Amino acid sequence: MSTDRAGSAAAPAAAPRGLLAAAALTVLTVPLAAVVTPGTTAGALAYLVPVLAATVLMAVAVHRVPRTRRGPWRWLLGAQGLYLLGESLLTALELRGNDAWPTPADAVYLLAYLPVTVGLLGLNRQRGGGGRRGDLLDAAVLTLSAAVLFGVFVALPAAADSTQPLLTRLVATVYPVADVLWIFLLARMVTGPGARTAAFWWLTGGITCTVTADVLMTFQQFGDGGSTTTRLMNGLWQLFYVGSAVAACTASAPTLAEKKPDGGGGLTVGRLVLLALAAVLPSGVLGALAVTGRPTPTAWLAAGSVALVCLVVARVHDLLQQVRSQAVQLAALARTDPLTGIANRRTWDHELSRACARARREGGDLHVALVDLDLFKRYNDTRGHQAGDELLKAATAAWSEHLGAEGFLARWGGEEFAVLLPSAPGQDAVAALARLDGLRAVVPDGQTCSVGVARWDGTEDPAALLHRADEALYAAKTGGRDRLVAADAPLTDPAAGLADSPA
Ligand code: GH3
Ligand code: MG
Ligand code: MG
Repeated sequence: MSTDRAGSAAAPAAAPRGLLAAAALTVLTVPLAAVVTPGTTAGALAYLVPVLAATVLMAVAVHRVPRTRRGPWRWLLGAQGLYLLGESLLTALELRGNDAWPTPADAVYLLAYLPVTVGLLGLNRQRGGGGRRGDLLDAAVLTLSAAVLFGVFVALPAAADSTQPLLTRLVATVYPVADVLWIFLLARMVTGPGARTAAFWWLTGGITCTVTADVLMTFQQFGDGGSTTTRLMNGLWQLFYVGSAVAACTASAPTLAEKKPDGGGGLTVGRLVLLALAAVLPSGVLGALAVTGRPTPTAWLAAGSVALVCLVVARVHDLLQQVRSQAVQLAALARTDPLTGIANRRTWDHELSRACARARREGGDLHVALVDLDLFKRYNDTRGHQAGDELLKAATAAWSEHLGAEGFLARWGGEEFAVLLPSAPGQDAVAALARLDGLRAVVPDGQTCSVGVARWDGTEDPAALLHRADEALYAAKTGGRDRLVAADAPLTDPAAGLADSPA
């Protein structure tokens, strides 16, 4: 099974050629409006052609998106319908010579923010964009940076312009505020998990165009924009309508609403650069205005910078938490055996030295046992490796339960395990041996095991102690398996002997 760029298990069905040809034609209609003079009937029609084409195209394309992924696309299509209505209304008003602003079309445009927002929220949710706090903080940094500039240079001047009627000021303020909401949704798409497909770039690119056009429009309303600005704005809006429609036509439209299995890349160098730029933007603008001797809205820009620093600190804190929890997870992984979940050999070495040191300090006995499953190769060969794995898991679970809190069990390697069993000073060594011998009785599935035990002599080093246990295990194997053999003295001792407890 292959995985596509979007990370979905099945490759999306390619869009039909007819649809792609229609999408290409629609894109080609965009420059029409830039060529024909705005304000004339021909200009108005040239402007409406791509809007109409994009709406029809999108209606067909959205219908092709699988039902389970179609929800957000339908909201975007609803918005496209409203835009067509608004643009038609505005064109009709313009052809009648209506120069006033805002117009009833603006009510329709503002209403369209709602379905676009719902659609983008739906896409974000389906892409798994609600999960990671770090991504949310990154989106917040990008949005706040833009919001400060939008507020200071677009919304506040529009709201404060007393030469304009109240309604004009209100509408001119609502546009940038709604645009900031879109910037947040865009930032969520860009920073969140999910595939960066063609559909993703057409849609996010289109929204970026419309946000840019809205800013130009505010400057034109309150500044001195000429016909070049009008053409540019019109082109950008067209690109928004066409971009959304083309996004719906691409084969990746369904996967745009799909969670990326690996959950995305986190804090990459590119993102770090973007965040750094966003974080310094308000203070940079403040500096540039001050240096060039222009009026500086110091309070707002400074407040924005402070808020951005707070967000960046929250992000750093978040990263530190993440690194800490990953370090804890890694340490746990390094200590345990992945198959059985018990301690691995590295941990065993550490615990054995500790146990010897503790027994030296506090007194008391210490028994070390090596446990080896009998004829396990044969078990694997007859039942399969998977069943062998299951037996290893079941045996370690049974042994852990049998040993309880006093004993320590580790995987020594393969089908061999090591046990530490300390006993309190004055406690009978026979009880410890009986406890270790009990390991044989709990092996599941009728299997047997051999046990080699050595009792710490109070002075030998851990390696020598383990070596004696290994010798005892060898004796148990050669003695016929399914038995415990105790080495009751170091083998270097000429008087050494092995106590055999046959099955
Ligand atoms: P003996 O009684 O002499 O110990 O015989 P044995 O067959 O148990 O010993 P041998 O050393 O010949 O074979 C050990 C087998 O243990 C061979 C190897 O495939 C199996 N084994 C080791 N680790 C694993 C594991 O993680 N999973 C499974 N399924 N088998 C394992
Ligand atoms: Mg074995
Ligand atoms: Mg073995």
